[in-house]
Amino acid sequence: MKVKVLTIFPEIFPGFLGYSLTGRALKEGKWSLEAVNIRDYAFDKHGSVDDTPCGGGAGMVMRPDVLGAAIKANYHGGRIIYMSPRGTPLSQDKVKELSKEEELTIICGRFEGIDQRVLDAFDVEEISIGDYVLTGGEQAAQIMLDAVIRLLPGVLGNADSTTDESFENYLLEHPQYTRPIEWEGRVVPEVLLSGHHQKIADWQHREALEITERRRPDLLKKYLDSKRV
Ligand code: SAM
Repeated sequence: MKVKVLTIFPEIFPGFLGYSLTGRALKEGKWSLEAVNIRDYAFDKHGSVDDTPCGGGAGMVMRPDVLGAAIKANYHGGRIIYMSPRGTPLSQDKVKELSKEEELTIICGRFEGIDQRVLDAFDVEEISIGDYVLTGGEQAAQIMLDAVIRLLPGVLGNADSTTDESFENYLLEHPQYTRPIEWEGRVVPEVLLSGHHQKIADWQHREALEITERRRPDLLKKYLDSKRV
């Protein structure tokens, strides 16, 4: 997968994507990353990318001519995504969908956001990482990319690693334990030490149902609905 990120802070990349599984995959060429500095497309010697909002109000807005020039010079196909609190909330289903793309171009906003005409002109998809406001789209882009890249072929060591993770089949994951078997008076549930695969699977499924019911009744409803069809 080829990823292009349009940002006024290219030095933020690859950031935490340069570590662990995503970092190794980057070095191995399983995905590529180019951070494009939007300021390189500014029209004045100060590298101005923003201006005051039409109609008044606080803050600044990213200019359509500068951002548009950056997109035109760097876009070679695939989806264009703008990280935005107004966007469709990111979900594991969306992450899976994006992981099948060959190219992603991601716009990171700053200030009060970007001029609407750029979003309209380039048919940009807006994605939010949650109902809160960050200072910039770079953090949001890295979070989305982390979730996408771990699903690319060969990035996770074990192809099965994602099959019983949270959000697979609408259930949150069951609790996990490791050694030591006893820690400060707390012991690992006996069934997990039984070696009985079916009993372990049943226990994990029950726990997943219970934790989903307690924490995310909305997800449990989706799970139950999916079982009805
Ligand atoms: N004025 C905007 C609003 O109220 O919707 C917020 C702008 S925010 C301060 C600056 C930039 O951070 C946005 O353009 C966007 O790229 C990014 N951003 C902030 N919160 C985000 C979120 N929840 N998900 C994705 N991107 C976000």
